[in-house]
Amino acid sequence: MSGEAPWRHGASAVNDAKADKQLRLYVGLVAFAGFCCLLWAISHAPALPAERLFLPAAVTTIIAAASSPLVSVRVRSEKRGIAATSGSILLAAATLPVPWVIICTTVGALASRIMMRDPLKVSYNASKDIVAATTAAFTISVLGIGPTADLIVDLPAPPHLAAAILGAALAYAAVDELLGMTLFSLLSGASWRRAMRGHWDVTLVVRGVNIVLATLVVIAVEYDSLLVVATIPTVLALQFATKNKVRQRADQEAWQRLAGTADQLNVTELTAVLHAAVRRTPELFSADQAEIELSDVDPPRLVRGEAGRLAYDGPVAEAPRHEGSTIEVPLDRPGSDGTPIGVLRLRFRKPVKLDESERYKLQTLASSLSTAIDNARAYAQLKRINAENAYAAAHDPLTGLANRRELLEQADRSFADRHTDGITAMLLIDLNHFKEVNDTLGHAAGDDVLREVAGRLEDAAQSGDLVARLGGDEFAILLTGLPTPAVAGHRATAMLSCLEPPIMVDGMQLTVEAAGGIALAPGSGGVQELMRRADVAMYQAKRNGQGIATYAHAQDTTDVGRLMLGGELTRAVAKHEFYVEFQPIVDLASGDVVSAEALARWHHPEHGDLTPMQFLRTVERSGQLAAFADAVLEQSLTAVVSWRDAGFDLPVAVNVSPRSLLDPTFPAAVLDRLVAHAVPADRLVLELAETLTLSQLDVVDRTLSELRDAGVRLALDDFGTGVSSLTVLSRLPVHQLKIDREFVTAVETSSEAAAVIRSTVDLGRSLHLTVVAEGVESEPQRHALWELGCVAGQGHLFARPMRAERMLATLQRGSGALAEPLHETGAVVRLPQRRRSRNALPHLPA
Ligand code: C2E
Ligand code: CA
Ligand code: CA
Repeated sequence: MSGEAPWRHGASAVNDAKADKQLRLYVGLVAFAGFCCLLWAISHAPALPAERLFLPAAVTTIIAAASSPLVSVRVRSEKRGIAATSGSILLAAATLPVPWVIICTTVGALASRIMMRDPLKVSYNASKDIVAATTAAFTISVLGIGPTADLIVDLPAPPHLAAAILGAALAYAAVDELLGMTLFSLLSGASWRRAMRGHWDVTLVVRGVNIVLATLVVIAVEYDSLLVVATIPTVLALQFATKNKVRQRADQEAWQRLAGTADQLNVTELTAVLHAAVRRTPELFSADQAEIELSDVDPPRLVRGEAGRLAYDGPVAEAPRHEGSTIEVPLDRPGSDGTPIGVLRLRFRKPVKLDESERYKLQTLASSLSTAIDNARAYAQLKRINAENAYAAAHDPLTGLANRRELLEQADRSFADRHTDGITAMLLIDLNHFKEVNDTLGHAAGDDVLREVAGRLEDAAQSGDLVARLGGDEFAILLTGLPTPAVAGHRATAMLSCLEPPIMVDGMQLTVEAAGGIALAPGSGGVQELMRRADVAMYQAKRNGQGIATYAHAQDTTDVGRLMLGGELTRAVAKHEFYVEFQPIVDLASGDVVSAEALARWHHPEHGDLTPMQFLRTVERSGQLAAFADAVLEQSLTAVVSWRDAGFDLPVAVNVSPRSLLDPTFPAAVLDRLVAHAVPADRLVLELAETLTLSQLDVVDRTLSELRDAGVRLALDDFGTGVSSLTVLSRLPVHQLKIDREFVTAVETSSEAAAVIRSTVDLGRSLHLTVVAEGVESEPQRHALWELGCVAGQGHLFARPMRAERMLATLQRGSGALAEPLHETGAVVRLPQRRRSRNALPHLPA
């Protein structure tokens, strides 16, 4: 076997003159050595008997046949063949005198390369074979094997023969490899080790098989020299079979390596994908370098690797220049659109042509690379979206501060972590008169103020503090790790004083006043209790016109408004001091009563009847909210049943505090009452205040879906006043919208109010929601609302809130109607386009 010499690609490719000179010198030396051997052989060749001339002729033919490369390996820009010349030369060496071995090799080697056009290449390769053959021939004759003068081979015992052939084979291999590798490394610049590494195993096997075959053939030839002729087709057949086998195996290995690389690309991080690709690809294609250019990013990115390491990763424009030739394949996005991502390039020092199978592999690699890049990008995007969602869930979009949920969670965590040193405290800050800023300067100015306040609080906070916006103009700061309770007070004062300097809004100086309440973490009750206490303190500060108040247990009950003595609420519930009045909701066109809203009152033994404005806030903060809500619901359902028994089957609308929705037992309490009174769920409408809190908490979502699934109707109260009406609506699946009184009052005078009503009605129509107007006080308002497409309304025009019995009497008196119809029968009117939806109020005249 011999290493078929590689060759450079045309003289023009030689750009290193020194290396070229070295090369020429080396080639010249080898050719000269070969020529010397040949000269010696010709001068010393013994004459052969004519009848045995067939032997050198056959041997020459075998050498020629065996010399064509079995497999051709490209290492970087250089090709290298592996041939099975060695066996034929061993055969020659064992059966012919040394000079004839050289002559036969010369003729055979030249004949097998008859197709090569480059004389330099032919003479080098032939010379190499000659020198190696000479060495093998001398070795074998020194080891005592050789024909007699009349070419009769007289062999020693098989072990001796095998040893001699092995010795000759080693000598041949040493010279062959030495000469071949030297040239190869001179040409390709690859190291000797690298040159050896390629297909060393194939080389070894081919050489071993050659030794065995040569030994067998030699024994056969001794038996009958004519058998050598039969060897010729055998060699050709073997040559053919091995060639296929070797090729197949090389191909399979290459695919396995490719698959291995594709596996390595299966990572989620883009940079890891790119780096793995450029590190592995050069080896796969025996390229000097591989690079990926991503052209769909700004700036275009180039990643380059060579020999298992990363060579460059950065903008294309800044990449080091590279001499030589490239082969590139486009990287397209997988899938139908196939938008280009960039290119994958193989780089070589010299021009290289890939064979068909290599091109196919490159194409395959490119498509798995495209997929890997696409996957990594999709993954990165997913990660980003998740992070954004997590951020949005924990932050207030306006100020970027933590939101209520985040505050509660963090406070919970600091409560749970028993190892935290120091004291935990909560500071609640509420801006005074913020509504006026909104009303006079507009919401944009209000937002500016909130952002400025948020910024100042953040600046004043220390590390470890958590500043949050609870909604509206309420802020909270969670202070942890305080050394003493007194420090909490100091910190609170510092936080509040940062709000004192005027705030510039639209070129105006505004002074923001705020009230703050501070409370220390309670022994029990957790976060909720801490919040409640801070709230109580803040409320106290507000009432007393103080800047800051600290929660004190002794004052908890007395200071929550003089009316609201702790025991009083409990008593109020126990003694049924809370009662409910009903305000009819009327079909605007016909004047028929279609429903009624329950409004709570407190009949206080000392202070007389109190309105929700006066007591609700306190009830909500006390432990009595559930009992209060239950009392209201109980009375409302009792009323519904009494009206129904009298023939007026009206649904009732009951107001629900946002805080009730945080109570997971609330839905069950409501549904139990419905069952107890045998009132169908769809006869109950729950009116929800439109607050941000509502739309932010999962527990609220769950509470509401539970109620809704049971058939209870939901209405969004005071619609239009919140900043995020649409956001709330998208999250809360309600059946009804109640337009706030603010717009109804202004419906005739303000085109903006009219526009809000019109768009609310439109919204209701497209979402199949009923729209009810609140606070209708005059006929012109009623008419205007009806013209705008609003179906139902409530207000002093029709009736003030009244007790259930009076409501029934009113219904009976008017046979269910409370007002004259808008239009007399026969009058020509243009009816607003109206569609009755499934969610429309019952009893609406069609
Ligand atoms: P709301 O839900 O907006 O209720 C309508 C309020 O407008 C009622 O005030 C009602 O008396 C008043 N109103 C009705 N028609 C007119 C009108 O034509 N002109 C004017 N100027 N006002 C009118 P009220 O009864 O003082 O209730 C105030 C708020 O208290 C209610 O606002 C509701 O949010 C809350 N509320 C009432 N009852 C309950 C209850 O049982 N539970 C809870 N959580 N909140 C309640
Ligand atoms: Ca209401
Ligand atoms: Ca309302």
